Amino acid sequence: MGILEQLEAKLGKGRVRQNISLAPYTTFKVGGPVEFYFEAKTDEDIINAIQTASNLNIPFFVFGGVSNVVVSDKGMKGLVIKNQVMYKEIAEDRSGHVILKVSSGYSMTRLAKETADEGWSGLEYHVGLPGTLGGALYMNSKWYINPGKNRQEVYVGDPLVRAGLVTRDGVFKSVPKSYFNFAYDYSILHETKEIVLWAEFKLAKISPEETKLHAQTSMDYRKQTQPMGIASSGCYFKNVKGESVGKMIDELGLKGYSIGGAQISEKHANFIVNTGNATSEDVKNLVTFIKKRVKEKYGIDLEEEVLTI
Ligand SMILES: Cc1cc2nc3c(=O)[nH]c(=O)nc-3n(C[C@H](O)[C@H](O)[C@H](O)COP(=O)(O)OP(=O)(O)OC[C@H]3O[C@@H](n4cnc5c(N)ncnc54)[C@H](O)[C@@H]3O)c2cc1C
Repeated sequence: MGILEQLEAKLGKGRVRQNISLAPYTTFKVGGPVEFYFEAKTDEDIINAIQTASNLNIPFFVFGGVSNVVVSDKGMKGLVIKNQVMYKEIAEDRSGHVILKVSSGYSMTRLAKETADEGWSGLEYHVGLPGTLGGALYMNSKWYINPGKNRQEVYVGDPLVRAGLVTRDGVFKSVPKSYFNFAYDYSILHETKEIVLWAEFKLAKISPEETKLHAQTSMDYRKQTQPMGIASSGCYFKNVKGESVGKMIDELGLKGYSIGGAQISEKHANFIVNTGNATSEDVKNLVTFIKKRVKEKYGIDLEEEVLTI
C-alpha cells in the first residue's frame, strides 16, 4: 500500500488530498504544493492524523488560519493537518467570571466578537486577528490596549488557565498556563512542537457595553495601523527589545519598495504584502534585502516572526 492509501485507511476514504496547492489556504497566497492535505473536524481527527503520520514516519504540520506561514514555491513534503475543529462551551459560570473551553481551530476574531457580546473580558481585544486559537497560543499573539501614548500589549495567553495538548507521538496531556512560558512572540510550543487541542480561559464578567467598546477601539486601531484587504502574513519580523522594526524600516525610506510581487507595505513597514503575483522567492529576496539594510544602518540582526517552510 502507498502512503496515500495508508493515510486514507486511518483517516477516511477521500479525506486526504495529494499534491494540492496550499497557497489559496494561506493569507499570503504564495507557495507550492503540499504532498498530503487533511482537514480535521474533531479533536479525534487531529490525534488520529498525528498518530498516523508519526507511525508512517512522515513529517506533519498542524495549521490553523495559515496566516503566519510562508510555504516555499517548491512546496512541502509530508502531511498538512488543517485544523477546522470548532466548539466552545462554558466550563464554569460564577458571579464574577466564566471559564470558557474553546477548541484550537476556533477563529480568533469570532471568539473575540462572541465574548465581547457576552460582556466576558480578556479576549475581546483580539478582534481582527486572523487565524485560529491554536496558532495564537503557539505565537502568544498580541494586540494593544490604550492605543496612543499609554499603549500596552495584551496577549492571547494572558487569560489562559489550562490547555489540552497532543505530543508529537499523539499522546494527550492537560497542562496549566505556566507550562507555556509565554513571552513576546513565544510559547514553549516553539520547542516541544506539541499541538493545542483546546484551551480554557478565565474571563471577567463586566458589562457588554465595556467589552464591545474594547473590541471596537481595537478594531479601529487595527484599521488605522495595518494594511487591510491585501494578502500578507502580518508583521514579518519580531520587534527587537521593544523597538519597532516597522519604524526602523520606515526610517530607511523603504515603504513601497518591492521585489517582484512582494512589497513593503506603504501603511506599515513591517508588513510585506503580495501585490498579486508574488512568489515565495520574491518574499525571500525582499526579506534578505531588508535584513541587510537594517544590519547596515542599525547593526541589528532581524529575526522572522513568520514561519518559513
Ligand atoms: C493581516 C494580518 C494581521 C495580523 N495581525 C497580528 C496581530 O495583531 N498580532 C499578532 O500577534 N499576529 C498577527 N498576525 C499574525 C498571525 O495572524 C497570528 O500569528 C495568528 O495567531 C496565527 O494563527 P494561525 O491559526 O493562522 O496560525 P498558522 O499560520 O496556521 O500557524 C502558525 C504556527 O502556529 C502553529 N500552530 C497552528 N495551530 C496550532 C495548534 N493548534 N497547536 C500548536 N501549534 C499550532 C503552526 O504549526 C505554525 O507553526 C497577523 C497576520 C495577518 C495576515
